[in-house]
This record gives sequence, C-alpha cells and structure tokens, in this order.
Amino acid sequence: MKLLWKALLNLVFPEGPECPLCGGRRRGEDVCGKCRKIIDGYGKEPYCARCGRYAGKGAVFPSVAVHFCYECRKHSWPFVRARAAGPYESVLKDAIHRFKYTGRRSLAICLARLMAEAACAGPVFPHLDLALPMPLSNEKLRRRGFNQAALLAKEVGSLLQIPVSEGLLVKDFETSPQAGLPRAARESNLMGAFRVTDSGALRGRSILIIDDVFTTGSTMSSAASVVRKAGAGQVFALTAAAGRYF
Ligand SMILES: [Zn+2]
Ligand SMILES: [Zn+2]
Repeated sequence: MKLLWKALLNLVFPEGPECPLCGGRRRGEDVCGKCRKIIDGYGKEPYCARCGRYAGKGAVFPSVAVHFCYECRKHSWPFVRARAAGPYESVLKDAIHRFKYTGRRSLAICLARLMAEAACAGPVFPHLDLALPMPLSNEKLRRRGFNQAALLAKEVGSLLQIPVSEGLLVKDFETSPQAGLPRAARESNLMGAFRVTDSGALRGRSILIIDDVFTTGSTMSSAASVVRKAGAGQVFALTAAAGRYF
C-alpha cells in the first residue's frame, strides 16, 4: 500500500533532483521540505542584531525582539552589522564542508540563495554599492583551486543586484591559527595580511563583504577595518553561516 501510494505521489508530483543541502529528494523546490523547515526555523531563532550570531543554549539575552550578544554590548566592530543564513551546524555546516573541501561548486548557488533570503528578511542592509568576497592568500587559493567566498559573492551579487569586485581586497599571506591569542592581537595580525588594491574604488561607498562562515568575527573584523581605512563609507557582512554565542 505504501509503495502504491509512493508511486501515485510520484505520478502527480514527480521527484525532482537531489536536494543540494542534504542529498535527499525534493519536488521542484530549491531545497527539500526537511531542509526548508530547518532553514525557516533558523529565521525564527534569537540572534544578535549586530554580529548576527545565534544565541546558544544558555545564552543570556533580554526578552526583547532586538538584542545584542555580550561581546557586541562590550566591543564595537568596524562593520555596521553582519547576517547569515543560519547557524554553522547541521545541514548548513555539512553543505559548507562539501562546498569547500570536496569542491562541490554548484552548492554556491543554493547557499547564495539562502544568504540572499537572509539579506532580504527585513531592513538588514541599506543601499549597497559593491560586494567584495573575502580573499584567500595565493598559497591557499593554489591549494584549494577556488575561492569559496568569490563563488558565493558572484551568486549573491546577481541575486541582490550588486556589482561584485574580486581583487579589490586581497590577502597577501596566510596567518597561522591564532587560537589562544586575545581578540585584539588576532585582529591586528590579520589586518596586516589584508590589502586594498584601489582605494579610489571604495571611497565613500557602502560595501558588503561576503564569506562562508562568521565564527569569532576576527577575520571579518580585520577585513572590514582595512576596507574602512581605505575610505569606504559603511561596511556590512553576509555569510552562509554564523557561530553561536553563549
Ligand atoms: Zn534537504
Ligand atoms: Zn553580537
């Protein structure tokens, strides 16, 4: 009976290709019903209005619609605000891993669509003049073969209709993992690695920096600082996933 029902369902709603996020079957939608439910659920979770990170279990936040995480209440960032499609876990984390480490470049389209949805969910970003992908050092680019942020930026740019400029923000060298260093030290080390190649192209403009993941925010903060120092007006950040704060 179950098989017959499935066959009938397939006749009425033919099964589409694989869901790009989980590999399950979908029926014409961009992601399968199960993944859509997860992503929509993220949209209802409490997150920090400044850095966009999601409240972790046990995180203390006031019971108001707009709230700021502990770090954002204490420190400032060089970007106005950051947003992500969801927390860095479950289907999003798996998809980002497949995208980055197994070279499933087609995932950029699906992830970028979810990022654009997050960017359009309310007045998150004002007018944006230009999107910049988070650069990789040449060494890392050679090893990976592609810059995942550049692929995301290209898709997000076309969905949000913002021009994308690759090569305006570059990373001259790789910085070693800096776990254990205080935030200020991590950020100043990283800042030395980023460089703007044509500051005239940024002067007074509203910039969106695009990356795959926002975890501690050190990389985004350093890149945004360099972009601001080069004369950009306001800087915003958009990633496929963001960490949680506790
Ligand atoms: Zn799915
Ligand atoms: Zn925050």
